[in-house]
Amino acid sequence: MSFGIDDLPVRDELRGKSPYGAPQLDVPVRLNTNENPYPLPEPLVERITERVRQAARHLNRYPDRDAVELRTRLAEYLTKTAGHPVAAENVWAANGSNEVIQQLLQTFGGPGRTAIGFEPSYSMHGLIARGTGTGWISGPRGEDFTIDLAAAEKAIAEHRPDVVFITTPNNPTGNAVPPETVLALYEAAQAAKPSMVVVDEAYIEFSHGDSLLRLLDGRPNLVVSRTMSKAFGAAGLRLGYLAAHPAVVDAVQLVRLPYHLSAITQATALAALEHTDTLLKYVERLKAERDRLVAELRALGYDVTESDANFVQFGRFEDSHAAWREILDRGVLVRDNGVPGWLRVTAGTPAENDAFLDAVRDIKKEQS
Ligand code: PMP
Repeated sequence: MSFGIDDLPVRDELRGKSPYGAPQLDVPVRLNTNENPYPLPEPLVERITERVRQAARHLNRYPDRDAVELRTRLAEYLTKTAGHPVAAENVWAANGSNEVIQQLLQTFGGPGRTAIGFEPSYSMHGLIARGTGTGWISGPRGEDFTIDLAAAEKAIAEHRPDVVFITTPNNPTGNAVPPETVLALYEAAQAAKPSMVVVDEAYIEFSHGDSLLRLLDGRPNLVVSRTMSKAFGAAGLRLGYLAAHPAVVDAVQLVRLPYHLSAITQATALAALEHTDTLLKYVERLKAERDRLVAELRALGYDVTESDANFVQFGRFEDSHAAWREILDRGVLVRDNGVPGWLRVTAGTPAENDAFLDAVRDIKKEQS
């Protein structure tokens, strides 16, 4: 018997657990991880190269620990797109919004504390809670995947969590949470005990509705988390950020590793932010493709959850894993998130979406 993980003195709460892992399979059409299908435009690639070359000349030094220039540009982007003033002191950046979430849980969660999410939702919230020793509470969602306010308020009153996650648009279901619901949950969380409410807006640029950044005023326990992985088409960059009261930005400094954001990452993100207008044009294309997927899947007779994201949840399947496999057999990788009866497909290029629609059409034909 070979030596394995179970032979190591790993923490009890990690025993028998699996790491996060969407399959990275070599398949012609990959629509499974909500990536943006469009490679960065060539002028932006050039600009990244210039900025990185410049940064490389100073790699003997540690990077700007407070990433001031980057936070200033991110604040400008938020102010421009959300129509709500955000300053650099309201913004904090890290290696992907996963790291932002980890820093928030290290700061406001931890041993003896709890966090709640309304599931099915982004599975990493619970996994990062576990990794930071924060107790995880799986809050309820309705049959139609909306948050049932009364049930959610009851769960908050009962468990008095230290951190409340609200993902809008939600992953994997795709639907957005109405601002009134977010406000009511914020009030419920403050009434139970002063707790932090983290609104995960990873997909907000694809939404029909507005960002909730405007709710930050006068709500110091509210945090909006964002990423450059989706709308900016830069999942490989690993750049996430948050907007909140400056006190929250001060608080996460207590747990961030010094110089966590490399000079190369900061240079690349700054280059991408110079090309925001071009990148947001791809978002418009993807929104149109998302709407086409919704319409065509419905026309084929599938149930489709309303989507405000760059992906679509569709069903219902008696055996969703078998359905996932049938689509994969036709060269298209979608995602089985473990939501019984449902699968999720990311909006790709028009050609990729056609390949996906051909695959499901073919499956329907075989069944009839
Ligand atoms: N939040 C949500 C809701 C997500 O779906 C994802 C990525 N799948 C993330 C956060 C993390 O994104 P990243 O770490 O790439 O910024």
